[in-house]
Amino acid sequence: MRDDSPNSWEARADAHSFYGFTDLPTINDRGAVILTHGHGPYVTDVHGRDYLDANSGLWNMVAGFDHPGLAEAAKAQYDRFPGYHAFFGRMSDQTVMLSEKLIEVSPYARGKVFYTNSGSEANDTMVKMLWFLAGSEGQPQRRKIITRKNAYHGVTAVSASMTGKPYNEVFGLPLDGFIHLTCPHYWREGRDGESEAQFTARMAQELEDVIAREGADTIAGFFAEPVMGAGGVIPPSEGYFPAMQAVLKKHGIPLISDEVICGFGRTGETWGCEAYDFMPDAIISSKNLTAGYFPMGAVILGPELTDKLQAASDAIEEFPHGYTASGHPVGCAVALKAIDVILNEGLIDNVRALTPKFEAGLAYLAENPNIGEARGKGLMGAVEAVRDKASKTPFEGHLSVSERIANTCTDHGLICRPLGQAVVLCPAFIMTEGQMDEMFNKLESALKQVFAEVA
Ligand SMILES: *Cc1c(COP(=O)(O)O)cnc(C)c1O
Repeated sequence: MRDDSPNSWEARADAHSFYGFTDLPTINDRGAVILTHGHGPYVTDVHGRDYLDANSGLWNMVAGFDHPGLAEAAKAQYDRFPGYHAFFGRMSDQTVMLSEKLIEVSPYARGKVFYTNSGSEANDTMVKMLWFLAGSEGQPQRRKIITRKNAYHGVTAVSASMTGKPYNEVFGLPLDGFIHLTCPHYWREGRDGESEAQFTARMAQELEDVIAREGADTIAGFFAEPVMGAGGVIPPSEGYFPAMQAVLKKHGIPLISDEVICGFGRTGETWGCEAYDFMPDAIISSKNLTAGYFPMGAVILGPELTDKLQAASDAIEEFPHGYTASGHPVGCAVALKAIDVILNEGLIDNVRALTPKFEAGLAYLAENPNIGEARGKGLMGAVEAVRDKASKTPFEGHLSVSERIANTCTDHGLICRPLGQAVVLCPAFIMTEGQMDEMFNKLESALKQVFAEVA
């Protein structure tokens, strides 16, 4: 499989590129896939092989890999004004326009936006804002952050502490004061004989109990993805967010919606909070914000947090936080175009149009005796492999079943991602019905092949 000649792309990647979030046994065996270009939802490697990317890059290349409007928006802005910051009361006109647009398309009647270069930094920024606010309101003890097990909020020291994954133990994380509630995955976490409504009530009661144990006045905020993404595409149990929001409201704890994946159309709504019927105090955006054509993140503050943070900043004359490239003019120009393309040029319409076919494809795969659950929302889905369907017993870890499935897919020209024992599908919003058939057909044949190997 891999080309081991010393000057191969694979060998050169090994020599000087430090791999992150990469299964090293797979790389040692197969070599990295080095890509040179893309067209529509397909990418092409250095050997000229095409792959249908069923993960739209990392959830974000939702307009495909050669959208002319996005490339043009970037080029026009590079020609006009290629870079600037947003410190000292200076910022680009594009930054002003993007903030207006984000508030216009947000669920908020009014609000303000703060820019970062990534989703991790946006979550970090939000936590710093909450800590700043607590201190300014004479509550320096209000610093704890509640999230959920399996949540993914990023990789900086703070956002990794919010992330509820065991792999962060190797860094000595989470930091103190980051609390992880039960993952609201009814299929996996529901108890024998427990209805979904009872499960949801238990999740809300757990939140009540944690608040009682820790003290409401020590908790700065609750962060949640509407649908957990990197945790394995886990939609919440029925009624979860309204139940959780009621508890948080009672105790005056802000609810922050991490919409880095769900925002801008992935669920079929503009925002995941609209799909799940709750009103967050702030929204974290990244990934789709620029359709992946520029690194950018944003904290979108609702009216109440806007007013409080503005007052706290006025009191000390400056909010001491920002990144050199916050509100980068090219990023803002690309984001303005991406939002237009997603909301007005038919991309979100296509998500809605394709969702029934996507759900039918997942449901069909779920008939396989080694698929324990197929789940999803809009154009994000996952199929989870099991050794035994009735008892939900997973395959033995050493078999690396999901890696095998993903590698077999790669051999068949389909890129999809293993996550735990699941395989994730989150295609570009421009996908056609024919391409969706190709995606499901290739995945199905890979599943059959791998389940036969490990039977
Ligand atoms: C990807 C992701 C992040 C982190 O974004 P980066 O740009 O990789 O730092 C945060 N939250 C969610 C929900 C994500 O999916």
